[in-house]
Amino acid sequence: MRRPVVELSECILCGICTDLCPLVFRMNHAGYVEVVELDEYPDADVNEVIKHCISDCIKWDE
Ligand code: SF4
Repeated sequence: MRRPVVELSECILCGICTDLCPLVFRMNHAGYVEVVELDEYPDADVNEVIKHCISDCIKWDE
């Protein structure tokens, strides 16, 4: 199962991922983006977010 990962050192906290796909991406209490633990991730939705991430810091970990 592949899962999206966020390179936090490059994330500028623009909020696009959490707006576009809150099922998968959320802001944690420390103020960083985190990937929600799921059994399966929606390919199309995550690919859309990857395309829109300004910092290009979301990748699939395969
Ligand atoms: S879209 Fe990219 S830069 Fe913006 S908050 Fe999400 S991971 Fe960070």
